[in-house]
Amino acid sequence: TRKLAVVTGASSGLGLYGALSLAKRGDYYVVLACRNVERAERVAKEMGFPANSYTVIKCELGSFKSVRDFVFNLRAFKGPRGLDALVCNAAVYLPADPKPRFTEDGYEMSMGVNHLGHFLLTQLLMSDLEKAKNARCIIVGSITGNSNTIGGGLVYPRADLGDLSGLKAGPGSEMADGKPFFGAKAYKDSKVCNMMTVQEMHRRFHDKTGITFSSLYPGCIAETGLFREKRGWFRSLFPVFMKYVTGGYVSEAEAGDRLAQVVYDPVASKSGVYWSWNGNAQQVGLYDPSSGSVKGAGGSGGEIFENKYSSSTADERTAAEMYEASMKACGLA
Ligand code: NDP
Repeated sequence: TRKLAVVTGASSGLGLYGALSLAKRGDYYVVLACRNVERAERVAKEMGFPANSYTVIKCELGSFKSVRDFVFNLRAFKGPRGLDALVCNAAVYLPADPKPRFTEDGYEMSMGVNHLGHFLLTQLLMSDLEKAKNARCIIVGSITGNSNTIGGGLVYPRADLGDLSGLKAGPGSEMADGKPFFGAKAYKDSKVCNMMTVQEMHRRFHDKTGITFSSLYPGCIAETGLFREKRGWFRSLFPVFMKYVTGGYVSEAEAGDRLAQVVYDPVASKSGVYWSWNGNAQQVGLYDPSSGSVKGAGGSGGEIFENKYSSSTADERTAAEMYEASMKACGLA
């Protein structure tokens, strides 16, 4: 019997290619959890997902009600039983917005969608994952949540959750630290929350449930829609810059294979880890079961490795406080 994987934001970019990579393997059935069902169905057809390898179920992460409805519909779905993997991938990046947008529940959009919607989803689906053997709960992180790297630390603004007074204050606040809205920072703050959530859930639930909690940074996928709100010159220069200057560039297809690897590969079964890939990532890295390593076609694919969390995302006290505040925000505490 096939395993069941849920991927949020599977209508474009990393989520789409990751879901496709899983669906093509044949041993996974994939649920595309998307806010726009028609768009997701159209894109899946265009991309050539194998027949009977996927279904689309609506999930608008900017609405707690929609997240709860998704969980209800997933459980009612008559596909493969059980849930083996949950991939929280969807995100919005709104650096050009002068004023905050808010989710249906009144949270600033980047924090609300990227972190809180996924936080509620993981909480609700934990009991389903717990029933499966070797289940995985994956939340996509980012280098921008890392203050010890070039992309995360030196590029202004820095992520900083401050005293969490904004998140604790609940609906209506503009930033996690209680300060006025700053779009690029709101995204970074939300990714820090994503990476902290993985570690906190690992500490609280891994031993009890056996679930593997993981985060990953697949490399800079500068072609995706995430950068659609950046100015044109940035969109056209950025992929080139990443490819030739920093060497951190990765194609959407290869990034998708990396995401899929964190779902299926025994190499990534350790819990609490932030996975990254080294090497020059211009070709697709393939897992070679005989050697147990990842080999790039032509020898230049990246190899998976356990990355270090930056000190800011590894701060256990802030993580615990952030976790409690998120439970409250989602109406779970
Ligand atoms: P894209 O913009 O291409 O894809 C984002 C996906 O999220 C889309 O499917 C989008 O749906 C969905 N989405 C947006 N808002 C909502 C919502 N309110 N409810 C449900 N789904 C929503 O971005 P990427 O593929 O680049 O990003 C995917 C992940 O990778 C993110 O977590 C991002 O932080 C991370 N990442 C990306 C990097 C990069 O270089 N691009 C680098 C590091 C991390 P729709 O199609 O309807 O818009």
